[in-house]
Amino acid sequence: MRNRKKTRQVRAGTLAIGGDAPISIQTMTSIPIERVEETVAQINRLAGAGAELVRIALRSVESADLLRRIIPAVKVPLCADIHFDHHIALAAITAGVHKVRINPGNIGDPKGVREVVLAAKDRGVPIRIGVNSGSLNRRKYPGAAPADLVASAMEHVRILEDNNFNDIVVSIKSSDIMQTIEANRLFAAESDYPVHIGLTEAGYGLTCAVQSAVAIGHLLMEGIGDTVRVSMTGDPLDEIIVARKILESVGEREALIRVVSCPTCGRTDPGLDVLELAREVDEAVTVRFEKILKERGRGLHVAVMGCEVNGPGEARDADAGLAGIRDGKLLLFAKGEKVRVVGQKDAVAALIAEIEKLF
Ligand code: SF4
Repeated sequence: MRNRKKTRQVRAGTLAIGGDAPISIQTMTSIPIERVEETVAQINRLAGAGAELVRIALRSVESADLLRRIIPAVKVPLCADIHFDHHIALAAITAGVHKVRINPGNIGDPKGVREVVLAAKDRGVPIRIGVNSGSLNRRKYPGAAPADLVASAMEHVRILEDNNFNDIVVSIKSSDIMQTIEANRLFAAESDYPVHIGLTEAGYGLTCAVQSAVAIGHLLMEGIGDTVRVSMTGDPLDEIIVARKILESVGEREALIRVVSCPTCGRTDPGLDVLELAREVDEAVTVRFEKILKERGRGLHVAVMGCEVNGPGEARDADAGLAGIRDGKLLLFAKGEKVRVVGQKDAVAALIAEIEKLF
């Protein structure tokens, strides 16, 4: 059993972060906010895929004003990402944004910090402090050690605390897995503010997915992390998919539909393409059962195995599955028990019909 660290809870609109709130998934838009219609469409697409908070980069007060058109048109809370200029943060808060990412130490002017804090307090908007190894002040912290990242984060935290502001979320990221893990461990030992975890500049594709899974998964297994972002070059939709898989893997979310398949080996029926069949099953099962599973609040576990020697046995936990026999024949099984032999072209339909008996 993981023991999740107890953190304070803050709220970004309808989303609770920290405390006993579920660990949330967030991402960031990848197009300039000035393309308002496309931004709205992208946010809604991300929300549909499971994003629970979406961050948008703002580069000017004018761009912050565009939030007035975007916020009413989207289904998730938004976080404004701002660097240095507190006027943009004020404009975003006034426009109704639900969370702001800005480092108070970078604003420079204490009066500006106070104005942002007052506006955030007034609207119940939390502030996220984000420290990255790449943007750390190297004159002050030449070694950029994990303790330096934490010290830098705490400097920003204290500025907000000195202004009697505690609705804070902190992220400490690096592109190095061990540095990210160690820094977050140190911060969690020192503070009870909720933390946003992830790797920064994690790359693209499989490399990013694996590295993010190791870093985020490791921290979550240690009980550290209240909200996650997988930073992946490319379509932010992929970030959501990877983040979901990480949360499912550590037991934070139940997979609605889990299609498992064997790696195949010399016993696999040479006439059977297990990868192709697994994809076909995944798609068919998702189309047919996703809605009903959501309504019933239960998951479905389906197996596609290359042979009947080990297949049904190895996949005995599955609700139902298919295992190759030979000559294009497959064994349909349910709960580890043989049901009947089916031909390859009827296999998916037979599997769907067998699963229907579960409902
Ligand atoms: S289920 Fe059968 S085909 Fe697949 S890896 Fe195991 S032994 Fe090989």
